[in-house]
Amino acid sequence: MVSRILKVDPFDLVVFGGTGDLAHRKLFPALFRRFLDGQFTAPSRLIGASRQNLDDAGYRATICEALQRFSSEAGRTDALKSFLDIIFYVPLDVGADTGWDLLAKKLSADPSPVRAFYLATTPDLFGMIAKQLAAHGMVTPGSRIIVEKPIGRDGASAARINDALGAVFAEQQIYRIDHYLGKETVQNLMALRFANALLEPVWNSAHIDNVEITVAESIGVEERGAYYETAGALRDMVQNHLLQLLCLIAMEPPASMEADAVRDEKLKVLKALAPIDVSNAAKLTVRGQYRSGASEGGVAPSYTQDVGKDESMTETFVALKVCIDNWRWAGTPFYLRTGKRLPQRVSELIVSFREIPHSIFSPESGKISKTRLVIRLQPDEGIKLWLMLKEPGAGGMRLRYVPLDMNFAEAFAIYAPEAYERLLMDVIRGNATLFMRRDEVEAAWRWIDPIKEAWGQSNEPPRPYFAGTWGPAAAIALVERDGRSWNEEIL
Ligand code: NAP
Repeated sequence: MVSRILKVDPFDLVVFGGTGDLAHRKLFPALFRRFLDGQFTAPSRLIGASRQNLDDAGYRATICEALQRFSSEAGRTDALKSFLDIIFYVPLDVGADTGWDLLAKKLSADPSPVRAFYLATTPDLFGMIAKQLAAHGMVTPGSRIIVEKPIGRDGASAARINDALGAVFAEQQIYRIDHYLGKETVQNLMALRFANALLEPVWNSAHIDNVEITVAESIGVEERGAYYETAGALRDMVQNHLLQLLCLIAMEPPASMEADAVRDEKLKVLKALAPIDVSNAAKLTVRGQYRSGASEGGVAPSYTQDVGKDESMTETFVALKVCIDNWRWAGTPFYLRTGKRLPQRVSELIVSFREIPHSIFSPESGKISKTRLVIRLQPDEGIKLWLMLKEPGAGGMRLRYVPLDMNFAEAFAIYAPEAYERLLMDVIRGNATLFMRRDEVEAAWRWIDPIKEAWGQSNEPPRPYFAGTWGPAAAIALVERDGRSWNEEIL
């Protein structure tokens, strides 16, 4: 099957932090892939900006090197050369006055109707960048600004960032990126729920026993130790990725795929989350921190060794029992967990349906497991529906738990774009459905902040867990107390 490519209008994309890790590892490889697929319309330009003193040729060389490292397509030399030809560079210090005039001049020479500013820098620069763009007359009606997580470290700082962006850009010009939402399977979750008559009638607490959301990483904090130490897993992963996934599973059917229709429904879920605070955090949350242990074929150091801080209280693992106080979900817990140095890198949503009310089969037929819908976001995206079926053969009625496997790569036999490819093209098209609106981000913080406060007040250190395990024993107890268990066996 051939993927349909819809060309986007000509655009100028300015990447602030264009020499950084995100730009090298994700953004330029994604842009190159879209370029190769013929999605760009000439004359489009990609303009890197950061403090390094480079000229266009020097910057192109760094991007070429990054593509050799991070793009499997870098061997297509003719195309690579054409791609590099549309890349430019402006040396610029966000906090100083130098460079901005040069950028303004570059943009106004041969202006493109679509102008996108990607802020691949730390959030403390977001406000200043927006201000400088306005001060130098670069914000046109066709402009849009893209910001990376983390948007703040609590509700108050998120509001400050949003205020600073909002002082220059209208809300519909602001694209808050959560790359999890750009994943093929996440969008397929919406297709599965709302383009089929099968699931929606049973998508509620009468039929669904519980939902698990696991975002597990096998690596430690790597070079991100300094940032991670100030953030922790709750801010780094739960406030954005896990809550966004929860919203897509739990939301009511939106009236359309229009950005605000979808975002209105996600917001309602965030507002319906049962509060977790000092009164119940000990019962509903577990935070952990990895200790040295077997990991990825060797012995991994502890988190405190990784960040060089013996007394660190930062959590590298979180498990939460989340309830949604509305008619659809009362009685169905959502178990969320995320962590570093876990046994494998996997992101997965597991929807477990309730047990059958009565079995007509004899005990010899075997145990009847719950029907489960498993939606895997990474490493290999796909959806499996686990069902009980009869084992083939004449040996009587033997039941087997088997997956109905909807592996996208095999089913459609086409290249599935990386999340950043889709999201970047959505920005150019002006489609904000997969981006977070201001009120969503702030509602998520309003729910997260009391958890952080409760942990701060308890003064208890995070529970230790060995690298290469599924977190502290208390995380297992969190689910087992409800007579359930995490579903590692079908991961
Ligand atoms: P990074 O490698 O440290 O890059 C930061 C970039 O900002 C560099 O290009 C740096 O270049 C530029 N910069 C810093 N101060 C500047 C200033 N005053 N004026 C102009 N440019 C300045 O960081 P990163 O990993 O790319 O991450 C960037 C942001 O994206 C962070 O907020 C991070 O949390 C977020 N993020 C990153 C990833 C990822 O995979 N890396 C994923 C999700 C989110 P100069 O030093 O040359 O100025």
